[in-house]
Amino acid sequence: MGVLEGKVGVILGVANERSIAWGIAQTLHKEGAQLVMTYAGEIMEKRVRPLAESLGAKLILPCDVTSDEQIARLFESIGSTFGGLDLVVHSLAFANRDELKGRYLDTSREGFRLALDVSAYSLVAVTRAAAPLMRGRRGSVVTLSYYGAEKVIPQYNVMGVAKAALEASVRYLAADLGPDGIRVNAISAGPIKTLAAAGIAQFRDMLHQAEQRAPMRRTITLEDVGGAALFLCSDWSAGVTGEVLHVDCGYHVMGA
Ligand code: NAD
Repeated sequence: MGVLEGKVGVILGVANERSIAWGIAQTLHKEGAQLVMTYAGEIMEKRVRPLAESLGAKLILPCDVTSDEQIARLFESIGSTFGGLDLVVHSLAFANRDELKGRYLDTSREGFRLALDVSAYSLVAVTRAAAPLMRGRRGSVVTLSYYGAEKVIPQYNVMGVAKAALEASVRYLAADLGPDGIRVNAISAGPIKTLAAAGIAQFRDMLHQAEQRAPMRRTITLEDVGGAALFLCSDWSAGVTGEVLHVDCGYHVMGA
């Protein structure tokens, strides 16, 4: 029997089979979780639907996280279909490509607003909508961050600032929801080649650096992130909340 048998989880952020969210979805499914999957817009639906169906997802719904209505509708549908929810995986972010090159100093007001809204505020909005369905069920919320929240990573720019806000939100949400038995954690993943990563100038250099400098001398895989997400979603991590778990082959411990 899988460790997530009987649990219901919603996965936000699958774009294709390279997505971190897809790696997590496969692992949670393998361990017995029943999954709901979302897509952002019609173009994404074409790619996400077959993937979600291959894991037997009972609900496959639109959820652009800039829309409070779509968020509300998603969790209403989950409530009426399953009567509750155990797991939320928030694996999404967005910034205009122009903001992910050059100097952070040149970040535009609108570019800053958009990046912070989609990449950080959305965790607050999604968690607030999910919380009533998770009470009394040992709920777990997991989001995805990156080392650029802690240190300057050239070209990562406004996304680093958005990830810093995301990690701080994890701590504040953990404090708010701990009394209800709901845990909120982040995985700080090492660089991995995905659609979102393709928007970052010189991403290939980031991958190369990670491979050279990480104690394990390799970059991470979708399975690495899936395993860490499984830990944070399962009762094996019942005493862990407000945490940022690095899944980066040790890269963040290196000073030089
Ligand atoms: P991805 O492109 O596969 O996934 C990004 C997802 O964000 C897509 O599914 C996209 O539809 C979704 N998204 C964008 N705007 C949205 C909106 N308004 N509403 C709903 N969804 C929206 O790329 P990924 O690398 O798997 O990214 C997933 C998460 O992992 C992101 O938070 C990213 O910052 C984080 N992360 C990625 C890396 C990496 O190197 N790839 C490293 C650390 C953290």
